Amino acid sequence: MAQGGMARSSRMNNGSAGKAATQASAVSAPGTKHPLYKSREPIYPKLAHGTYRRIKWAIMVVTLGIYYLLPWLRFDRGPNAPDQAVLLDLPGRRFYFFWIEIWPQEVYYLTGLLILGALALFLATSLFGRVWCGYTCPQTVWTDLFIHVERWIQGDRNRRIRLDRQPWNFEKIWKKGLTHLVWLLIAVATGGAWVFYFADAPTLMHELLVGTAPAPAYIAIGAFTFTTYSLGGLMREQVCIYMCPWPRIQGAMFDEYTLLVSYDEQRGEPRGPHKKGEPWEGRGDCVDCRQCVAVCPMGIDIRDGPQLECIQCALCIDACDEIMDRVGRPRRLIRYATLATPSGKRLEFKPIRPRTVIYATLIVLIGGLMLYSLLTRSDLEASVLHDRNPLYVRLSDGGVRNGYQLKVLNKSHDARDLKLSIEGLPAVSILRPLHEGPADRIRVDPDDVAAVRLYLKVPKAVLRDSAFDDGEAEVTFRLTDPASGSQAEAHSVFRVPTRRR
Ligand code: SF4
Ligand code: SF4
Repeated sequence: MAQGGMARSSRMNNGSAGKAATQASAVSAPGTKHPLYKSREPIYPKLAHGTYRRIKWAIMVVTLGIYYLLPWLRFDRGPNAPDQAVLLDLPGRRFYFFWIEIWPQEVYYLTGLLILGALALFLATSLFGRVWCGYTCPQTVWTDLFIHVERWIQGDRNRRIRLDRQPWNFEKIWKKGLTHLVWLLIAVATGGAWVFYFADAPTLMHELLVGTAPAPAYIAIGAFTFTTYSLGGLMREQVCIYMCPWPRIQGAMFDEYTLLVSYDEQRGEPRGPHKKGEPWEGRGDCVDCRQCVAVCPMGIDIRDGPQLECIQCALCIDACDEIMDRVGRPRRLIRYATLATPSGKRLEFKPIRPRTVIYATLIVLIGGLMLYSLLTRSDLEASVLHDRNPLYVRLSDGGVRNGYQLKVLNKSHDARDLKLSIEGLPAVSILRPLHEGPADRIRVDPDDVAAVRLYLKVPKAVLRDSAFDDGEAEVTFRLTDPASGSQAEAHSVFRVPTRRR
């Protein structure tokens, strides 16, 4: 680690240690009673202006736009399939994502997606710290939105503080009431948007409006309304500090080259108020204006060093840059830096490190495998189960019969008339009890599974064939779609009585 980083780091630790010591002495003071839980101190984040605030605006618009509008996007899949671009069809047991259709048998794609998501999070965290928490986590985005609603109705930080301190009067009642009403409307819209992912959105919207939607839809909207309102409006930063496990886990992904929002202590200290025209020699650049604290949605002071509460939203950078412009000092007293970056020097950032290479390699490998599998997967699949009991039946004419359960998946949106052929058995015939029409023809409806009960029979004359030397022969069930040429195959065995053959 570079010297500057070391110095800063040790100062940060001293700061934390000092704080801990103060707390410890407070706890051990004789006769002092402390409540089990610390009461919450209200936070009134001030509106920041600058690059990072603009980035956060853009991310908020994009992420909320996607969430609320995606269920309304249509995608033509043909006449026998839903036209909703993203649909989790639980009764039909299908997941539709544009041109991708996931069947229950392919749930491993969802597992792969979760693994990819986790690896991407690990990679982003080792490179850019808590970038997920600061910009894209739903808790951050919705809390940010709720704070803006509050600011829009009640005013910025100082007005909100004044309003909270004043006694209940008409102004306080209508401003607080309207804030909670708008929060509730956003929460209802959030719950409403969620259920649209599980059913045809326009149909469900109509059913919800006329009161004929299924009960689970109302329950889900109620649950989501409650959680959005309470997590985004009431609990806010407490969710990140006390409920979310991620701040505790991500420390394992940081190293001295991870980008973190940090205060340049060597440049900033000794801090203190500064009057226009006064010299800057012998003092730090921090004018102790506390604007970095005023804009912080977590209510912390970045100058105290790295803290678990810091979600790395970078709004304190914007606030401090504004102050530095005003007092005529260089920007980035608070900035994105690595612990290896010396004070006032060029950023030392190494994106290529063993851990980032491992994460990136795993992402490429798993993503590539999934993509290959998606692009090459067939829209026709078959599986077969041999009867467990009896394993075979000796027929009165001396031949042997085995029973099977054949399943054929037609993933296309057209009905298919398939031809079944059996490979690996000499002189085999297919028997399908109670079936009308040729035994080797199987019809499967669009986007459906056909379960076919069938028997294979071989005559006595071929039982001495070398294929049956081990008491069983490998058999392949091949299904061919004459219209498209698509094929699927399933494998099993044909068993014969070994001793008496
Ligand atoms: S300290 Fe800065 S980066 Fe951290 S949460 Fe507060 S404003 Fe965001
Ligand atoms: S905004 Fe900048 S100058 Fe003001 S207190 Fe924070 S670090 Fe110091």
